[in-house]
Amino acid sequence: MIVVMAKDSTPEQLEDVKARISRRPGLEPQVSEGAERIVVGVIGTVTPDMRDEMALVPGVSEVIPITKPYKMASREFHPENSIVMVGDVAVGGPEPVVMAGPCSVEDEEQMVSTAKSVKASGARILRGGAFKPRTSPYSFRGMGIDGLKLLNIAKQETGLPIITEVMTPGDVDTVAQYSDVLQVGARNMQNYNLLDAVGETRMPVMVKRGLAASYEEWLLAAEYVLAGGNDNVMMCERGIRSFESVTRFTMDVAAIPVIKRLSHLPIIGDPSHSTGHWYLVTPVALSAIAAGAHGLLIEVHPNPDKALCDGPQSLTFENFANLMGQVRAVKGALAGDPVPA
Ligand code: PEP
Ligand code: MN
Repeated sequence: MIVVMAKDSTPEQLEDVKARISRRPGLEPQVSEGAERIVVGVIGTVTPDMRDEMALVPGVSEVIPITKPYKMASREFHPENSIVMVGDVAVGGPEPVVMAGPCSVEDEEQMVSTAKSVKASGARILRGGAFKPRTSPYSFRGMGIDGLKLLNIAKQETGLPIITEVMTPGDVDTVAQYSDVLQVGARNMQNYNLLDAVGETRMPVMVKRGLAASYEEWLLAAEYVLAGGNDNVMMCERGIRSFESVTRFTMDVAAIPVIKRLSHLPIIGDPSHSTGHWYLVTPVALSAIAAGAHGLLIEVHPNPDKALCDGPQSLTFENFANLMGQVRAVKGALAGDPVPA
């Protein structure tokens, strides 16, 4: 349930509403202040008498039940788009934000050269995996903390903030210390202890869609982070399993407008993991932008043939520069947000 405050309500009336909610066992108020209105989300199971009581409280204009299982992630709870600030980069606004870099951190030269090149082409955030979830235990599983340190050298050289994956609750503090956005990978989207742990931080978190997750399951994963008190959540569509084997996964482009309709959270498209082939990355990236994505996650490597992970889907510096030019052209051709309000 959400309680919508009247436009002319007073701060005392808001406090009264919060107190009435907190007095009920198991219920908690979550205030969301938008440009247009203040809403108070009631987290917990609401009884019908509570709904009736709140409708009569001074300063309340409306009481709306949220029928969806996710509450704080829903559009009803927060009608305006959420903007997640990563340093001075705004994710969720009109400008698409491109996050680019190698699948895995390998060495200093690789990271610094990639950071400089993707920055020159217009990327705003640097990616690189140090803790890698790999299907096979024999594959390269990342450099761990040494990799986080190399990411920070590249950050010092370029000023680009860092996004990197965290795989276990026990690593959250360390990874948070060395990064600007915590990535929850597709394979961990339903690792509820990890979602709780990143929800305890106040860092930006990107929740990638599970390989076989429905929109509802994915939004409920985001809800874990929000319910922990961390508002800085973004979503990432990275392809889902289908019967097709030419592509690595199947990019669900419709997820972008669907998430924008159901939720206020920024949505990023990942054409690298969803396709698995470098020559598909640009066309699918453009489809994500045309569908209204707030940004892209793109794998770029100085020498894809020698990459320790995901070389076949990695763009060269030159191909990434070309992609960025085309992204700007498609964005420029759109008349505002393609998703109807
Ligand atoms: C990644 O972005 O590094 C990654 C492993 O992606 P996913 O979790 O989507 O497979
Ligand atoms: Mn990868």
